[in-house]
Amino acid sequence: MAKQAKGKGKKSGVKKVGPLPVHPRRLVSTKNTSLPISVFDNVMKQVDEACVQLKLDPNLQEFLKMPRRSSIAYLPVQMDDGSHRMFPAYRVQHSIARGPAKGGIRYHPGVTLDEVQALASWMTFKSAVVNIPFGGGKGGIQCDPTKLSRGELERLTRRYVADLMNVFGPELDVPAPDVGTGPQVMAWFMDTYSMREGHPSPAVVTGKPTSMGGSLGRTEATGRGVMISTREAAKHLGLDLATATASVQGFGNVGSISARLLHELGVKFTHVSDVTGAVYNPDGIDIDGLSEYVTRTGSVLGYQGTTQIKPEEVLTAKVDILIPAALESVITDKNARRIKCKIIAEGANGPTTPGADKILNKKGIMVIPDILCNAGGVTVSYFEWVQNRIGYFWSEDEVNRRLEEKMVAAFGDVLAMSLEHEVSMRIAAFMVAIERLIEVVQLRGIYG
Ligand code: GLU
Repeated sequence: MAKQAKGKGKKSGVKKVGPLPVHPRRLVSTKNTSLPISVFDNVMKQVDEACVQLKLDPNLQEFLKMPRRSSIAYLPVQMDDGSHRMFPAYRVQHSIARGPAKGGIRYHPGVTLDEVQALASWMTFKSAVVNIPFGGGKGGIQCDPTKLSRGELERLTRRYVADLMNVFGPELDVPAPDVGTGPQVMAWFMDTYSMREGHPSPAVVTGKPTSMGGSLGRTEATGRGVMISTREAAKHLGLDLATATASVQGFGNVGSISARLLHELGVKFTHVSDVTGAVYNPDGIDIDGLSEYVTRTGSVLGYQGTTQIKPEEVLTAKVDILIPAALESVITDKNARRIKCKIIAEGANGPTTPGADKILNKKGIMVIPDILCNAGGVTVSYFEWVQNRIGYFWSEDEVNRRLEEKMVAAFGDVLAMSLEHEVSMRIAAFMVAIERLIEVVQLRGIYG
């Protein structure tokens, strides 16, 4: 733990009741499947650890963990060659206690219900960490968007909205982009929902193009949030960003924008990877140049002045800051011992397994947990939803100023919790979120 001593948690304002029970059988188990890791189990472990620190009522603990509703659909889509294909699709609402379910839609071949339930749960805690009035949700379609034509993607998206129409709504469940989706998919989403409702309904989805109700600053928001939380962590540790080095795993929206914004603060990126491979330049990679190159060629490989390295080296590089900005469970108990950085800034959701967390804490690496580090995206999604509902739009400076305020406050809350209870930043982030969530759950009571 960075600048954090080990020890028992101190008292908090949350109700305390007896020892924790053994879990009832979980709603989702991957025991009998071929999946190597249940990502949802990982979230449960994180929540359990925070609940132990908070000495939380065990009944509330179970209530906190189980997703409210999981919807599964198989979407028939007509392909360009005239054939039909069925795509498994999901939408999970983990919680609507603090507000409408909020969270992206992922298009990826590896999407499973287990993964979507985990991602939906993280959204609940993420929204609470940055203290915005949302719950948590997530959607996903098992598909490879890079192998679908524009027409196929449009038909897939419209069918998804049509089949799950009754779970969405500006007051109920508000999707956004995630891995494999972006503003165009959100535009089709908004259009399909609006046509079926009979009137424009921009607040049903965020991350839309700015010409149709999207917020300025939304595209950059997740990366900007990663930059802000990394900057705050560096300040706390006394690390000078002007002389710091970094590596980034994943060079999509989050990885490339956080790298660009940190680069502007003086950080030198020596290692970068994407799905196609990894590159290295000890003198620092020109991030703007690389972004243009990737847009043009679709890969980081072959960029001027770099040499190709093994993707794994990006995680284990001797740098000050490591930004995992791709998918979950990439830092595990297998490679965590070889990680040498001072700060891990989790641009991705769930990149570190609970086993790896323990190792990283022992090594004194400060992990800025996903539910804090990448919360800039959902924060500006909230701003977009607010702007849609009031029908008035803010300037980009206004959006960025409000984002800065929210991220700095959330980082401060989590750091204070971490120092007070002598726990890792991850457990502290869950504790901050759970206290906020439980307060509302107790005030509202259980209906029925
Ligand atoms: N998919 C993003 C996330 O994981 C954004 C969610 C949103 O804006 O609702 O945080």
